[in-house]
Amino acid sequence: MIAAVVVDVPSGSVNKTFDYKIPAVWEKWAEPGMRVIVPFGPRKLQGFILEVKSTSTVKGMKNITEILDPLPVLTSELINLGRWLAENTLSFYITAYQAMLPAAMKATYEKSFQVMKPDKLPDSIHPLLAGNNEITVSDVTKSNPDLLPLLQSLAKEGILDVVYKVKNKANKKKQKFVSIRDRALTEDQIQKLNKNAEKQKAILLELLHRPDGEYSLQEILNETGATLSTAQALSKKGILSIEEKEVYRDPFQGRTMKRTQPLLLTENQGEAIKPILHAIENNEHETVLLHGVTGSGKTEIYLQSIQNVLDKGKEAIVLVPEISLTPQMVNRFKGRFGSAVAVLHSGLSIGEKYDEWRKILRKEVSVVVGARSAIFAPFQNLGIVIIDEEHETSYKQEDHPRYHARDVAIWRGNYHSCPIVLGSATPALETYARAQKGRYQLAELANRVHANPMPEVTIIDMREELKNGNRSMFSLALMEKLKSGLQKGEQSVLFLNRRGYASFILCRDCGYVAQCPHCDISLTYHKRFGELKCHYCGYKESTPSVCPSCTSEHIRFFGTGTQKVEEELAKVLPEARVIRMDVDTTSKKGSHEKLLTAFENGEADILLGTQMIAKGLDFPKVTLVGVLAADTMLHLPDFRASEKTFQLLTQVSGRAGRHELEGKVIVQGYDTQHYSIQLASKHDYHTFYNHEMQTRKLHQYPPFYYLGLLTFSHLDLMQVVEASEKAATYLSKRLSRDSLLLGPVTSPIARVKDRYRYQVMIKYKNEPELRTWFEEIIAHFQKDKEIKDLQITGDLNAQTLM
Ligand code: ADP
Ligand code: ZN
Ligand code: ZN
Repeated sequence: MIAAVVVDVPSGSVNKTFDYKIPAVWEKWAEPGMRVIVPFGPRKLQGFILEVKSTSTVKGMKNITEILDPLPVLTSELINLGRWLAENTLSFYITAYQAMLPAAMKATYEKSFQVMKPDKLPDSIHPLLAGNNEITVSDVTKSNPDLLPLLQSLAKEGILDVVYKVKNKANKKKQKFVSIRDRALTEDQIQKLNKNAEKQKAILLELLHRPDGEYSLQEILNETGATLSTAQALSKKGILSIEEKEVYRDPFQGRTMKRTQPLLLTENQGEAIKPILHAIENNEHETVLLHGVTGSGKTEIYLQSIQNVLDKGKEAIVLVPEISLTPQMVNRFKGRFGSAVAVLHSGLSIGEKYDEWRKILRKEVSVVVGARSAIFAPFQNLGIVIIDEEHETSYKQEDHPRYHARDVAIWRGNYHSCPIVLGSATPALETYARAQKGRYQLAELANRVHANPMPEVTIIDMREELKNGNRSMFSLALMEKLKSGLQKGEQSVLFLNRRGYASFILCRDCGYVAQCPHCDISLTYHKRFGELKCHYCGYKESTPSVCPSCTSEHIRFFGTGTQKVEEELAKVLPEARVIRMDVDTTSKKGSHEKLLTAFENGEADILLGTQMIAKGLDFPKVTLVGVLAADTMLHLPDFRASEKTFQLLTQVSGRAGRHELEGKVIVQGYDTQHYSIQLASKHDYHTFYNHEMQTRKLHQYPPFYYLGLLTFSHLDLMQVVEASEKAATYLSKRLSRDSLLLGPVTSPIARVKDRYRYQVMIKYKNEPELRTWFEEIIAHFQKDKEIKDLQITGDLNAQTLM
């Protein structure tokens, strides 16, 4: 038997399978999808069996060294999906497969020196080895780095050998359990115990008082104050049995959840859920866009759809953006489906993630709630995928493999003949356009549940405030509302949009922001050269010292931090209790949850934060939402700037007035006339959609065109320029007349880790060969030894150019 194995070397030349012999002992159970260790040159590498076959044309095949998994970790569906993923994202197969599995299953490698000829070993090496036969290279590097050259030369002479080992990080957590071997005998034995053996007696009595069964050893020791050696003594005497067993690390330790019951759907909800239930009922693949305003009861529709799927004995995946994956959110699913739910998010340790993943593989759960990569949950009987906040950019992975979770979901939905539900109050333009075209089914919820009104939004022009002598970062209206909220004991949320901080310049008097004359995006400020630059076409101009529009001198970079706002708040509202949430205050594990719980329990009056408080939170006592600097994101050099601003403002305002208390929203900014701010304040998605579609059409952006992006990077600027120009020429000769080639230009982030970055962009509608051309370009430069160390990444459907 022969296994075709893809090995853990992300490189173009080995981006294929290699044939290995399966040793006789493993012949019976070697299966595609298992991880293996195989010899590869001088090394040992991890790999995946993709195929088991009986013949091969390869001569001198080596044996598989070891099979790591008793059961496949990649199902046959995932093996196929990985192939598709690698090809469509221009990634290596191994990278695609690794992306589908928890990090714990990725191998790390250890290199060590092993003694071959002990008699020839120089004395100076003996202390290092300390009597052992081998030492790892990393240990030598730590303790005696200057001995490394000697060790290397000994290895050359054959006195030492260099061996490579694969370390498997996928540790299962073990816990010791105790039980009494024979309860009948024990009374007797207790009498016979040494009089001084008080602690031994205590352990036995503790167990005798409990119902027959096994108990956590740690728990018994805690209860009795005995030590491990006491228990071990009893075990030696044959009275106790101590057994080690595998347990799951429980990220939600001991928390019990109140179970919730399905709500009676409103008439609107009943209509909206119909296409979903219809697809579930008939095992049809269908993509349904559930467009519903904030608080319209989308989550209840998700829950009831999942219930239908579970009733059919099938499984469900729910994707939620990482920052919305709050305990509140998770509890809504755990509350309905209890222990059938596994949770996958980045807050979990590597071990916890591995445990949750294994519950899925072992079919111990049937619902997964998780961030982007949960789309690869190894379910075999998938009945629905729900993507909440489907417009979120975090669903696109901006690293290899550059996949969009929505595309993967639709691939899996097709494979399993099941529906995909895309939910949002502000669908991505692409998604809504597809729904309009009929490629997706559209279900809309125009109102909040029980006709709770949408919150009233007031827009405040900070230029006016400045004119009237208010130099503070809070408008008079916002101050007043904050104060009255405090008096009434109601809570407020203050949201600071920090993205785009200081990268553009703004006139504080007239709101002027410098734009590129060719691209309709704002120019980015480059402090080093004192210039403003367009990242799409390369246009540049020097930084103005007075505003070109109104000649004011108040033209400067824009931005404030949460810390600054907190200080200001302390000055103007010293009596207010403030919780600040940003990357600084939430970096510690669990701190995010702690702060939110504190706010929920009324331990603070104001919750101040960045993007991370914009979504999913549902606090009944919040009556005021204040948005500081609503327009900062508008000026990012990104064609999605307006869309993102609209989405964010809609999300933030959605936090107010979701319950009995009426909510109010105050939005502050400088460029408040912009349609995305105006329309967000009116909760008018449809007008926004129509307006934005016209702009996109005019400037040839998605969803009218796809964006293909090739990014080149190298330490030497000239090499990057040369390579990207070659690539552009190559493409320009081949592209169809309907496509546009832009660049090469400097990438928006012009240098990362001392590497210069250039990009070539292609706007295209239909270019079936583009993938091949990208592959050819990448392969060409990989072979071309003239440009060593040149990195190229290709994306056939870039979401952002930032
Ligand atoms: P969305 O996900 O669209 O923002 P939610 O699902 O969070 O909306 O619903 C908003 C609120 O309305 C929640 O508190 C939810 O419990 C409640 N709700 C949803 N559907 C119903 C219903 N059919 N009957 C009563 N309350 C409902
Ligand atoms: Zn001005
Ligand atoms: Zn430009």
